[in-house]
Amino acid sequence: MEGLAVNLDRLKSNIDSVHSRIARALDQAGRPPGSVRLVAVTKRSPAEWVEPLARLGVVDLGENYPQELVRKYELTRALEPAPCWHLIGHLQSNKVKKVVGPLGQALVMIHSIDSLKLLDLVGEAALAAGVSPAVCLQVNTSAEPSKHGWTPESLLADADRIAAPRGVPVVGLMTMAALGTTAETARGSFVRLRELRDQLAARTGRALPELSMGMSSDYETAVLEGATLVRVGSALFEGVEG
Ligand SMILES: *Cc1c(COP(=O)(O)O)cnc(C)c1O
Repeated sequence: MEGLAVNLDRLKSNIDSVHSRIARALDQAGRPPGSVRLVAVTKRSPAEWVEPLARLGVVDLGENYPQELVRKYELTRALEPAPCWHLIGHLQSNKVKKVVGPLGQALVMIHSIDSLKLLDLVGEAALAAGVSPAVCLQVNTSAEPSKHGWTPESLLADADRIAAPRGVPVVGLMTMAALGTTAETARGSFVRLRELRDQLAARTGRALPELSMGMSSDYETAVLEGATLVRVGSALFEGVEG
C-alpha cells in the first residue's frame, strides 16, 4: 500500500460528505453542531495519506494495531497540524508500554480497553510515563463470541472497580455492532451502549460523556443515538487511490 498517491479532490469530497451526514444526523437528533468527533480510521491507508488528511482538517486518526500506530506516528509526528492518535483495536498487555508513553501526548485516546487488568496496566504505564490518554471501555453489546469487551452485566458489576482512581481518565464507552448488521439492526447496540453509560455513570458518579460508536455503514444511526466519536474508514477512503 505504501507510496500510493491520493486523489485529493475525491478525499475532500468524501470528508465533506461524511461531515454533512454527521451534521444532518445531529440536527435531526436535536444535538448541537460539532458535538461529534470524526476519527478517521487509517488502518487500510498508507502513512502518506496522513498529511493530506491533516491539511483537510482531519487530525483525529484511529489505528487498530499498536505497531502500526507507532509506525505512522513516527512517520508523521513533525506535521503541522500534528495528528492526534486513537487506538481502536485490541491491546495486549505486553504491548501497553509500546504505545502508552512512546507517543507522548499524541496518543489522545484508547477506545478499546476490554478488561480491568488492561485498565490498571494502562493507568500504571501512563503514570510512569507522565502521559494521560483518555480511555473508553469496550462493551460487547452484540454478544458475539468473537468480540472483545465487557458484557453489559459484567460492566455494571465492575462499577466500583472502574471508578477507582488511576493514571488515566475513563471518559466513556465504546462498542461495535455485530458483523453484517445494517444501520437499522445496529441501532439496538447503540441504544444499549447509551443506556449502559447512563447506568454506569449513575453507579460511579462519573459523567462518562463519550460514546464511541458507529462506522462507515452505521455512523448516522450512531449519531442519532448519541455517539460523540464515530470511527470511519472506508467511507472516507473510497475511491481516493491514485
Ligand atoms: C476498521 C474499524 C473501523 C472502521 O470501519 P469502516 O467500516 O472502514 O468505517 C471502526 N472501528 C473499528 C474498531 C475498526 O476496526
